[in-house]
Amino acid sequence: MKVSEMLLPTLRETPAEAEIVSHQLMVRAGYIRKAAAGVYTFLPLAWRVVKKIEAIVREEMDREGGQEIMMPIIQPAELWQESGRWNVYGPELFRLKDRHGRDFCLGPTHEEIITDLVRGEVSSYKQLPLLLYQVQNKYRDERRPRFGLMRGREFIMKDLYSFDRDEEGLEVSYRKMYNAYSRIFKRCGLKFRPVEADSGAIGGNDTHEFMVLADSGEALVVYCPKDSCGYAANVERADSPPDINGREEARPVESMDTPGMRTVDEVTSFLKISPKKLIKTLIYSTDRGMVAALVRGDRDVNEIKLMKVVSAINIELASPEEVLEITGVQPGFAGPVGLSGVMVVADPEVEAISNAVSGSNKKDTHLVNVNPGRDFRFDRVADIRMVRAGDHCPQCGAALVEAKGIEVGQVFKLGTKYSKVLEATYLDEKGQSRPIVMGCYGIGVTRTMAAAIEQNHDENGIIWPASIAPFQVVVVLVSVKDSDQAGMAEKVYRMLNGAGIETVIDDRNERPGVKFKDADLVGYPVRVTVGSKAVASGEVELRLRTGGDTEMVPVSELVSRISRILDDERVAFE
Ligand code: ATP
Ligand code: MG
Repeated sequence: MKVSEMLLPTLRETPAEAEIVSHQLMVRAGYIRKAAAGVYTFLPLAWRVVKKIEAIVREEMDREGGQEIMMPIIQPAELWQESGRWNVYGPELFRLKDRHGRDFCLGPTHEEIITDLVRGEVSSYKQLPLLLYQVQNKYRDERRPRFGLMRGREFIMKDLYSFDRDEEGLEVSYRKMYNAYSRIFKRCGLKFRPVEADSGAIGGNDTHEFMVLADSGEALVVYCPKDSCGYAANVERADSPPDINGREEARPVESMDTPGMRTVDEVTSFLKISPKKLIKTLIYSTDRGMVAALVRGDRDVNEIKLMKVVSAINIELASPEEVLEITGVQPGFAGPVGLSGVMVVADPEVEAISNAVSGSNKKDTHLVNVNPGRDFRFDRVADIRMVRAGDHCPQCGAALVEAKGIEVGQVFKLGTKYSKVLEATYLDEKGQSRPIVMGCYGIGVTRTMAAAIEQNHDENGIIWPASIAPFQVVVVLVSVKDSDQAGMAEKVYRMLNGAGIETVIDDRNERPGVKFKDADLVGYPVRVTVGSKAVASGEVELRLRTGGDTEMVPVSELVSRISRILDDERVAFE
């Protein structure tokens, strides 16, 4: 392509509404334009990147025996009612009616549709296992669509579903996808980490998220720094052994005036104690009733763990009115002593505490020398704390490290959740009917594109990994007015394309500075400059977007030089 003929509207200014680098650069470098919040048009360069990522995804899915299909975006409400998700999916589901008033939704995911397909078409063990996938637009009316392609309301996902006879079969399918995902993200040039993840309301334990590590990530992960160990988990899911010290001899409880002191900081600095000596009492409102969660003052409650412990589907911090009703006091002075009418869940670190400080359920006072068991009871002791950096690795004991992550993919063992409710069964060798055992596996194609930019950019623009770059090479023609130069640039451009190297030529009537800036912004891995000396010397200037010195290369050697550069990078990723 000639840059003069391309729809490539680069901007000098950073768009005000774009908070993170990938969003800023995709707008500035002419990749995307917004149609509505979380809804974008992909301009030619962006669409090429999407196709590249999709091609890698398809190759790796096919390599594992995946068969590509295409399911409808418009899905009938009946199937969602049958699975029970029509009511629980909530406002994220885009719902619509047809002219007869029948309900539909725009697919946020396709478990219902595919399970319906498979229950109709599969009846015997001989037809299993089956791996079916599609690459398609998904629709989710996200509460906070933001960060450009990172959290869109319309986005492209590859979703594969596995169908097996039993758990062992599922294990095989799961491994296949786990390995395929690892290859895909590696081939896309990303630094990533598969982490143990929370399985949400679905239950079961086996799910991994593939996290691209980047500061702009919305997820927090902890991992073990020891390569030999490899433990890594989303903090929503992470465990760590409790930090427990020896017990002290119990002293008598006393009441202390703590006027206006509500926060852990205020109370502990006033009483000159470590937050580890404080019992934090948080009151939650859940669909299972009110719950008091007790964690140490230096800890945060992991609400996902708490939800599981009390078997709740919904959970939120109680309102000040609710806290008042339960404890008789405003938030800030709640404590476990004398608390009734709520389920009390204590973290093991609280169970092991001695002579602690807690709220007293009276305004402006706290209790000191509070001892669990002696002074208050709890209904459950369970790990409900958030793991953080420095906590011990549950596998090897090393100090865990924290990092932000962008979830680009997730693999999930569904088991028989959908096949049971939707009655997708098969007959085994003995003629017995069994539910099909399922897994689901998603990759955010467009989010992967954004994540690649988050990890690969500098102050001048995008630095595409060659495997997903929209074009590999830009040939910069320094002066369009010099016809010899223009002829040579054109020749180089044709030669590279002829050799199968995707190349554009910047033949615009612009100053070279503008062209160089745009080349950096757009992020072509290789820049070839044809300037005034090129015609006489037969050499052009070669520069890599990843940095390093510019180099003069004879035109006759250009194809082999660039091929080698691109191959080297590919090998590094494969
Ligand atoms: P998140 O927790 O970020 O909302 P999710 O867990 O709901 O994502 P999945 O249902 O697991 O997402 O979807 C599979 C993949 O689709 C995710 O790993 C992610 O890469 C991508 N994805 C999910 N939601 C969005 C979105 N709103 N915009 C872009 N990509 C998304
Ligand atoms: Mg997910």
